[in-house]
Amino acid sequence: MIEKELTFLEAVKINLDECAEILRLDEETRLAIKTPIRELHVSIPVRMDDRKIKIFKGFRVQHNNARGPTKGGIRFHPDETIDTVRALASLMTWKCALPNLPLGGSKGGVICNTKEMSVGELERLSRGYIRAIANFIGPEIDVPAPDVYTTPQIMAWMMDEYSVIKGKTQFEAITGKPVEIGGSLGRSNSTSLGGAFALREAALEHGINLKTATIAIQGFGNVGFYAAKIIHEMLGCKIVAVSDSKGAIYNKNGLDPIDVNKHKEDTDSVINFSGSENISNRELLELDVDVLIPAAMENVIVEKNADNINAKIVLELANGPTTPAADKILYENGVHVVPDFLANCGGVVVSYLEIVQNSYAYYWNINDVTKYLDDKIKETYKNVLTVSREKELHMRQSAFTISVDRVVKAMKLRGSI
Ligand code: GLU
Repeated sequence: MIEKELTFLEAVKINLDECAEILRLDEETRLAIKTPIRELHVSIPVRMDDRKIKIFKGFRVQHNNARGPTKGGIRFHPDETIDTVRALASLMTWKCALPNLPLGGSKGGVICNTKEMSVGELERLSRGYIRAIANFIGPEIDVPAPDVYTTPQIMAWMMDEYSVIKGKTQFEAITGKPVEIGGSLGRSNSTSLGGAFALREAALEHGINLKTATIAIQGFGNVGFYAAKIIHEMLGCKIVAVSDSKGAIYNKNGLDPIDVNKHKEDTDSVINFSGSENISNRELLELDVDVLIPAAMENVIVEKNADNINAKIVLELANGPTTPAADKILYENGVHVVPDFLANCGGVVVSYLEIVQNSYAYYWNINDVTKYLDDKIKETYKNVLTVSREKELHMRQSAFTISVDRVVKAMKLRGSI
């Protein structure tokens, strides 16, 4: 039977239920790990350029703080929903626990279309959102960061607004800032670099020679572009296909990520890139490549198309691209999935370093940041692989059991369960 279209939140809950079975958690613990500690629903009035006031809706969900202040990005997206933010906040809890960061999980979202807004409108919206949630965030409470359609400039405005409210500069209240104002070196491409390190480990494990490996990347935003660039330049792989919301392109001889990005900046899309063939997003997902990288949004590999995935490795740089039913099919078909909260945890790992540097007012060089990230991913990957082998679980189940176990232990020690 084909699974009904699951929402992202339902998918996360199914993963947690499965994990609870594996760990034999009792009922109250099961409920506790699924329940956010706080949810904010805010209205943000913004004076638009035509002088009219428009009211935007925003959310901030703090899922679990047993292991430390909550941490998570903010998405600016026209289709944002509270349930998606809930799912993403939960995922952040597991994403911070997996590499053993002393942080919990949260997520924010604002329903808006940044492509239709001026720079001034975007700044007023960003500042308004922070004013609306200011009493419930802070370095010891909850620390926001960038995510889909939010940028270092937006983080700069948010940090500034928070600092104005507090009457003192508070660099450590927001991460993903520009380096001139407390950002960490290496943060802007850390999600993709962490993904590349994870891919290196996965390829080693599966005997894939990265120098001849072919890669398809679904999504060519910040994360997708840097992934293409790093995987091409650092690992020597051939990027044969990339896509955006308008379509996909394919060239069996390989695409130059820098040239494709330039073409995208000039024409607003990757399609019609010279020397490549336009294909559909669906065709990209089903290409016969060594590695498929979903780097856009959730629910891309579902029960309906999972059997058609031909890649040997799926490296999830997007959050939640694969549903639980699809996971099972991929596992049975021998496709090695590097799950989102392992593959893309590089962003929050370097965000953590950003908080540490801000707190000490002492800044690391890029080699130190890169080495920390490399070691962290290597160790985390190994850990997930070992548990998956020992307990005969697929990589996502294994990662969930490690993270949930750590969070449950912290909750027990603190007395909340
Ligand atoms: N938004 C990123 C993520 O989903 C980074 C979060 C952070 O740095 O706090 O992992």
